[in-house]
Amino acid sequence: MADILSAEMRSIRMSKIRSKDTGPEMTVRRFLHSKGFRYKLHDKNLPGKPDLILTKYNKVVFIHGCFWHGHAAKNCKIAREPKTNVDYWRNKIATNRKRDNKNQRLLRKLGWDLIIVWECQLRGSGKNKTLQSIVKKIL
Ligand SMILES: [Zn+2]
Repeated sequence: MADILSAEMRSIRMSKIRSKDTGPEMTVRRFLHSKGFRYKLHDKNLPGKPDLILTKYNKVVFIHGCFWHGHAAKNCKIAREPKTNVDYWRNKIATNRKRDNKNQRLLRKLGWDLIIVWECQLRGSGKNKTLQSIVKKIL
């Protein structure tokens, strides 16, 4: 279905997906909050501006959109390669992945533990399991 979108429409749609308070991120935030966790959001002083920062536990959480961050998992149904403007998107996503890797290295150097959650893991039947696993990783 996505392939019939024009480049412009796709760009608009993707920029919406990219915005800060995306659905998957809100899902994680609401869940953790309901479990009593408190966190900071998008601390721009930390590499990659992590989505959630749990200072007390020394953990940062990234909720990654599968398309933008190039989720490489075989069973990911979101990160399918677009059939139009292939070079453009490949390039863009490769750049994003490089940046992610660099930021993750820097964060580890600074002593943070990282929890990476992928958008597709928060969809469908796997959602609750994913949320529980985040709690386990924090504690
Ligand atoms: Zn994915």
